[in-house]
Amino acid sequence: MALPFDQHDGEIWYDGAFVPWKDAKLHVLSHGLHYASAVFEGERAYGGEIFECEAHTNRLFASAAAMGYAIPYSKDAVSAAKRATLSRMGLTEAYVRPVAWRGSEMMGVSAQTNTIHLAIAVWAWPSYFDPALRERGLTLDISEWRRPDPRTAPCHAKAAGLYMICTLSKHTAEAKGCHDALMLDYRGHVAEATGANVFFLKDGVLHTPTPDCFLDGITRRTVIGLARARGVEVVQRTILPEEMEGFEECFLTGTAVEVTPVGQIGPYTFRVGDLTKALMGDYQAAVQPPHAALREVA
Ligand code: PMP
Repeated sequence: MALPFDQHDGEIWYDGAFVPWKDAKLHVLSHGLHYASAVFEGERAYGGEIFECEAHTNRLFASAAAMGYAIPYSKDAVSAAKRATLSRMGLTEAYVRPVAWRGSEMMGVSAQTNTIHLAIAVWAWPSYFDPALRERGLTLDISEWRRPDPRTAPCHAKAAGLYMICTLSKHTAEAKGCHDALMLDYRGHVAEATGANVFFLKDGVLHTPTPDCFLDGITRRTVIGLARARGVEVVQRTILPEEMEGFEECFLTGTAVEVTPVGQIGPYTFRVGDLTKALMGDYQAAVQPPHAALREVA
């Protein structure tokens, strides 16, 4: 069993100062825990530099605004704190996890006066790829849970509450021997995986769902830019599940999964083809510093 995350060594940036890793605690009566008023980011550092650091900081602030609160630091201060935590941990290949939440002043649905807390943890996470998966790709279940209607939840926020159905979907998928799950949206359209966006190839054209009710991933935008730089047409549109029958290649994009091929989704199979492999390589090159401004601006 791997060391639990509260048992690591090192330091965590917590409300403006570094504290020993094992002391970075919050009280059990915290609004963020009971009412999911937490927002977070998932970022990666390569070669000692955080890829798309400012874009992730911007999204953290936007997620907090969507939850009705403001992060009590400037964006520059948060980006600097992320870099300082990375360097304090002495890491170059790492995962960066900022998290903000409402504290304990009010303990009910209303939490108007609660202090907003912010912590930043960094841990070693070398970029790796299981060679077997490079050949076969991931196997995905199709989840019964749907990405919610934008009128049901602040669907563009990277907010803790939105991950409830992701964990449920992923646990069900793992119980069936799958790696992950594809989630449809509230209309029954293809949406995304539990922590990553999805792309499909057909007749030389990439298709990816319009991110109108789920996270428009930073990796997704990078990969759209990389594909277009190769002269590949990328279409963002409504994708129906039955269309997967005719798609040739499929891959996921996300900070954690980077570009990962998919071999099967429910009854539909895909080959790990040339474009998927090329974009995996392009992405690995793009994330190495110095970072070019390649990201597709939607
Ligand atoms: N969708 C969900 C639900 C996610 O958790 C993530 C990972 N943050 C993504 C998509 C991909 O986003 P990004 O490329 O910005 O990591």
